[in-house]
Amino acid sequence: MTRFTTSLIALSAAAGIAAPALAEGELNLYSSRHYDTDERLYSDFTEMTGITINRIEGNADELLARLQAEGDNSPADVFLTVDTSRLERAKAAGVLQSIDSDVLEARIPTYLQDADNQWFGFSQRARILFYDKDEVTNPPQTYADLANPEYEGMVCIRSSGNVYSQTILAAIIEHEGEEAAKEWAQAVVNNFARDPQGGDTDQLRGIVSGECDISMSNTYYFARAIRTDVDGVSDSLDQIGWVFPDQNGNGAHMNLSGGGVTAHAPNRENAIRFLEYLASDQAQEYFSAGNDEYPAVPGVALSPSVAALGFFKPDDVDLSAVAENVPAAQRVFNEVGWE
Ligand code: FE
Repeated sequence: MTRFTTSLIALSAAAGIAAPALAEGELNLYSSRHYDTDERLYSDFTEMTGITINRIEGNADELLARLQAEGDNSPADVFLTVDTSRLERAKAAGVLQSIDSDVLEARIPTYLQDADNQWFGFSQRARILFYDKDEVTNPPQTYADLANPEYEGMVCIRSSGNVYSQTILAAIIEHEGEEAAKEWAQAVVNNFARDPQGGDTDQLRGIVSGECDISMSNTYYFARAIRTDVDGVSDSLDQIGWVFPDQNGNGAHMNLSGGGVTAHAPNRENAIRFLEYLASDQAQEYFSAGNDEYPAVPGVALSPSVAALGFFKPDDVDLSAVAENVPAAQRVFNEVGWE
């Protein structure tokens, strides 16, 4: 049987056709990245390696619960998600494993990978401030400025249930302590233009519609509106200004997308190969060109839509420490009535 299998592969290779989908030719991917453009990432990997990717997409929390429920019977090889707090939660839940990869060590900066090599960041986004150029003559330059009374009734921002909100407040707690973070959050609530609502793109739409003067969003939503037609934003790009906050301080808050090899990966070698592929120049360029993100690997070219935002200083705070502050952030949100 073994011999037959081997000769079948040899025959396929000789004939220049793809090998049959044997167990070693597959990769089972659980992903909560919700971007159509990721298709290219996966198809290029399959083309290069012959490894078929079976993809299960879903909400990050559901995928994590599924991994836990499946335990050592899980077919998953790789878990991909957005936000460090989720990567840390996956690690804490024991659904990831440490891996040894010289490629990942060399390519991914230390502060963008887990100390135990259970997860690696592959792309980043900056969470920055946007404003209505017609209405705001003195835009906030720091996250702290959002608490300034001069912006009363002007600020739109996402709900406390959103992971981006939780992580940026967790980062503020890491830098300033919980008490100062609470004062900040209370003052920002006082400056709300409306109750927190919608996704990141809706914060940008709010500026165009006139409902918001200042809002917070990840860079890739704005860059996407530059690259392609985003309803309610792309037609009014000239109206929207932006500020990379804290450039004289800690730098702009960065939001990470990444993943790791699952604890019971049946196709462990393929999983490592896939993560190494995600760190390749080709895949890194695609995170930027396809989804308007910042590559994790230094020196990789930015797509024009991302480069249009300009250069800035990112906050390189320890993201694992930030993730540990998420429960405290949730507590602060509750205390100040940030819905
Ligand atoms: Fe997003």
